[in-house]
Amino acid sequence: PVNIYAELRKNSMGVNFSNDNELKAMADAVNAHAGPWAAAPLVPGTTANGATIQVTNPADRRQNVGSYVSADSATVDKALANAVAAQHSWDRLPAASRAAILEHAAEQLEANRGEFIALCVREAGKSLPDAIAEIREAADFLRYYATMARRLFGQPEQLPGPTGESNQLFLNGRGVFVCISPWNFPLAIFLGQVSAALAAGNAVIAKPAEQTSLIGYAAVKLLHDAGVPADVLQYLPGDGATVGAALTRDPRVAGVAFTGSTETAWAINRALAARNASIAALIAETGGQNAMIADSSALPEQIVKDVIASAFQSAGQRCSAARVLFVQEDIADKVCAMLAGAMGELKVGDPGQLSTDVGPVIDEDAKKILVEHAARMDKEAKKIGEVKLDPALTANGTFFAPRAYEIPSLATLTREVFGPVLHVIRWKGSELKQVVDQINATGYGLTLGIHSRINDTVDYIASHARVGNCYVNRNQIGAVVGVQPFGGENLSGTGPKAGGPHYLLRFAGERTLTINT
Ligand code: GLU
Repeated sequence: PVNIYAELRKNSMGVNFSNDNELKAMADAVNAHAGPWAAAPLVPGTTANGATIQVTNPADRRQNVGSYVSADSATVDKALANAVAAQHSWDRLPAASRAAILEHAAEQLEANRGEFIALCVREAGKSLPDAIAEIREAADFLRYYATMARRLFGQPEQLPGPTGESNQLFLNGRGVFVCISPWNFPLAIFLGQVSAALAAGNAVIAKPAEQTSLIGYAAVKLLHDAGVPADVLQYLPGDGATVGAALTRDPRVAGVAFTGSTETAWAINRALAARNASIAALIAETGGQNAMIADSSALPEQIVKDVIASAFQSAGQRCSAARVLFVQEDIADKVCAMLAGAMGELKVGDPGQLSTDVGPVIDEDAKKILVEHAARMDKEAKKIGEVKLDPALTANGTFFAPRAYEIPSLATLTREVFGPVLHVIRWKGSELKQVVDQINATGYGLTLGIHSRINDTVDYIASHARVGNCYVNRNQIGAVVGVQPFGGENLSGTGPKAGGPHYLLRFAGERTLTINT
C-alpha cells in the first residue's frame, strides 16, 4: 500500500503519564474547572424558552454538572432559516479561509484542554486517559479536514476542452447539514462531523446527544470563537424525538451526518426519503457485533491484553469494542483462565482518578439493558469472570461490572450489547470458514480483531470478513485520524470513513462549468 497522506499533518500530542510534572499540570488544569456549566440553543434571533434539563455526573448522580435549555420548535425553524440564508457566503469563502478557522480552533482546544477534559469526565463519565484521547482526536479531526479542504476544495479541476471550450469541475457545499452526534465521543465525533461539514462549505446545525449537551455547547463556542459565523454553525440541544425528528423531516436539509444506533439511522433515512424534497446525503456510522478471532498460533498473553482493552476500555461503550472472542479450542481453557485473572486486576471507579480502568456507563437506561442481558447470560451461559464492584459506587453512580461469558454461538446474541460484556466462543481449527461466515451473517461489519501468526489464516480472514476496520495482533479500538480511517459497512454504516481521505467528498456537491471561449 502507498501512504500518500502521511506527509500531510501530525497527530495531536498526548500527556506523558510517566512525567509527574506534566501529570500535575494536567490535574491542576482539570481541577480548575468544576462547573456548573450552562447551555442553551445558539440560534441568532431567538431567545431560549424550551424545557431546562439538569445534568448530573454519571459517576455520582448527586453531583450537579450544570443544565441546558432545550430547543423548542420555533427555535428549530429559525435555525433552519438562518442556515439557509448564511450558507452561500460561507461556501464562497476560499477553502483555505475555512481551513484556517478550523486549525485555529484545534490550537484553542489544545490550549484550553483542561476544561474540555473536565467536561468529558464529569458529563460523559470518561476516564482521564479516554478524556485526553478525546481532546486529541477532536484536534486531529479539525486539522485533518482543514488539510483535506485545502487539497480538495482549493482549486477547481481543469478538464480537457476538446472542442475549444473551457471545462472546470468545482466542489461545493451541499447546503444545510444536520450533524447528530453520540454521547460516547461527545467531543471528537461531534467536532469531526461538524468540522467536515463546515470544511466542505455547508452551514451546520449541530444536535448533540442529550446526555452530553454541555460538551456540545463548549465545542460550538470553540468554533464560534475561532471565527465560524454564528448563523453558519448553530447549536440545537434537545431530544431526538422532537429536535432530531423536526430537523430530519424538513425539506431545507441537504444532508445528515449521524453516529448512533442502526435503528435510528433507518428512521432518519425514512424521514429524509418521506420529505419528497431534495434527495439528501446520509452519512451514518452505526453499531457493530465486533469479533476477535484468535487461533492457537497466537500468544495467549497478547490475546488477553488486547481483548481486555478492546472489550472493557471506555466501559465497552465504543462502537468499535470487541463483543465476541472466537478462540481456538486448543488454547481456550488457558485463555479463559488468564482472562478471568486479568479481569480481577481491573479497577472500576471514579473516572477522575488515574488509577481507574473502567468508569461508569452513561445512564440508567444503558445500565438497565446491561443488567437484563447479564441476567439472561447468567441463566444461559457460563460465566468466565466478573470484576468486583465497590457497592458505594453503585449507590450513587451508574456503574456496571465488566464480565465475560462463554456462549455456544453468535446466535445467542440477538443485538449489540453496548457496554463491558465480552462473550467467548470456542472454535475448532477446521472451522475457520464457519467462523467468518457466522460473523458476516450478523450483517454488521465494523471492526474485527485477528490474533494469529499464520499468514494464510490472517489473509483468509481479512479477505473474507466484510468489515470496515480489521486489526491484526493488536487491540481493535482507538482508530487514529488519518492513520486508520474509521467506519463500517452493511448494518454498521454508509461510509465514507471518518478521518479518511474521502470523507469530505460525501459532504460536497459537484458542479461542472463549461464556457464557450
Ligand atoms: N473511532 C472509535 C474507535 O476506533 C470508535 C467510535 C465510536 O464508538 O463511534 O474506537
